[in-house]
Amino acid sequence: LFVTFEGIDGSGKSTQARLLAEALRARGHQVVLTREPGGSPGAEEIRALVLEGDPDRWSAETELLLFTAARRDHMERTIWPALKAGAVVICDRFADSTRMYQGLSRGQLRPMVDKLHDMMIGDEPDVTLLIDMDPETGLSRARGRRGHEERFEDFGLDLQTRMREGFLDLAAEFPTRFRVVDGNRAEETVAAEIRGLIAPELAP
Ligand code: C5P
Repeated sequence: LFVTFEGIDGSGKSTQARLLAEALRARGHQVVLTREPGGSPGAEEIRALVLEGDPDRWSAETELLLFTAARRDHMERTIWPALKAGAVVICDRFADSTRMYQGLSRGQLRPMVDKLHDMMIGDEPDVTLLIDMDPETGLSRARGRRGHEERFEDFGLDLQTRMREGFLDLAAEFPTRFRVVDGNRAEETVAAEIRGLIAPELAP
């Protein structure tokens, strides 16, 4: 089973990905918890190339190629082998983040994102949990947490609001795999809902 978490910065998706991994492991499932950009040694190197240093170093198109290369390496080295071995793979961000960030926010590259995905990745997650979050709350949480070691897109409220709407549009575009979870609630309440959404997927 391949599960991904998506949402705007500060939505709590990394925390929820970790809590789901812990809950499934406690029930005896083999779980691989991973993240993007990154998730394999090569892809983590590409992450550093893209997210550290001068944000204008790469054009939007080159950045899309780098993210696609990172995802291909992540698939080859981490995700495909884990799925083949029967593990539950939980990934913090995946191709939907590229559809949003490279496809929408930095140029209108969505057609190119889709072509590259078809050529180089192919697979989609079985389930994508969109942690929907009030843009203002998300922004203040993300601002409070970020150091300066990595690029953080401080989109400001307008763009954070557009990203939230863009993720909801993506959920409507892929209704069979997306589950929208209200992230504006206590961490454990959100985690319990997510466990409830994943349980039927693991039923024999
Ligand atoms: O999920 P995480 O907090 O590690 O993401 C770090 C940053 O990477 C985000 O603020 C986002 O702007 C950027 N990102 C991106 N394109 C992606 C995934 C993440 O620009 N496909």
